[in-house]
Amino acid sequence: MRDWFYRISSYIEPYIQFPWVIQHIIDIVIVAFVLYKLLLLIRETRAEQVLKGLAIILFVTKLSELLRFNTIYWILKNTATVGVIALLVVFQPELRRALEQIGRGQLLDRFFLNDEKDPTYIINEIVRAVQNMAKNKVGLIIVIEGKTGVNDVIETGVRIDGELTAALLENIFVVNSPLHDGAVIIRGDRIAAAGCFLPLTDNSGISKQLGTRHRAALGISEVSDALAIVVSEETGVISMASNGKLTRYLDAKSLREILKKVYVREKETRSLIPKKWRSRND
Ligand code: ATP
Ligand code: MG
Repeated sequence: MRDWFYRISSYIEPYIQFPWVIQHIIDIVIVAFVLYKLLLLIRETRAEQVLKGLAIILFVTKLSELLRFNTIYWILKNTATVGVIALLVVFQPELRRALEQIGRGQLLDRFFLNDEKDPTYIINEIVRAVQNMAKNKVGLIIVIEGKTGVNDVIETGVRIDGELTAALLENIFVVNSPLHDGAVIIRGDRIAAAGCFLPLTDNSGISKQLGTRHRAALGISEVSDALAIVVSEETGVISMASNGKLTRYLDAKSLREILKKVYVREKETRSLIPKKWRSRND
């Protein structure tokens, strides 16, 4: 096996000799690219907060060393070893998933493929599905992820990662189907998951007519910048929760206007909107 490997490498080596400057440039560009993509991945998870915390701790450790605060330095330095093990335990699910994705080649997909659809298409599909289901009084919650990642919520449901179409949305919420209970999560132009459990609001000021579905929509809008669209099963009324506030009695037109604003706002911070569309609306 080793023999075979050496023979092949000695054969191709003369062809892959770069001048050393090019070699270093390629090396640095690859590392920078992978780091950048890793940061983008992390930005969607709770790992972001943890990394910020770690950076602060590292800074304080260095500072205490410089200032010769020996006790503080000793404690911080010694907890670092335990900290690494603790991190591995805390992020065990994420690490496992990342390794699985590497195995399936999906991580590379996420790294390189970014062919997201036109937002007007996304908005049309969502509005059409919501309008149809409101007409038929099919209860639903659709959560549109914002900048704050909602991976924790996605974990509570069934991952779908399907193309966002009105037909698929309507299919998910068919009464008595396995996934109709709970919320659908939309990330970018994909349906990320269905049957997800959202945190309920403990706001006591909301109308007594509103039950857990509306409380769940408000709940997720309080803990993240996600938008939650609700259709009431009892009345067919369309509502939207955002920033801890519920707007009721929306029609298709107002829903479309709100979604347009959201997707335009998102373009500042995410690569959600294709470039061609960005310049058209700036
Ligand atoms: P509706 O007007 O449709 O009756 P409601 O606000 O009165 O809504 P409920 O009647 O309690 O609320 O609706 C229950 C449904 O809401 C559940 O079947 C489930 O699909 C959904 N739901 C309840 N709690 C949650 C939650 N925490 N996360 C996601 N979905 C939830
Ligand atoms: Mg009810």
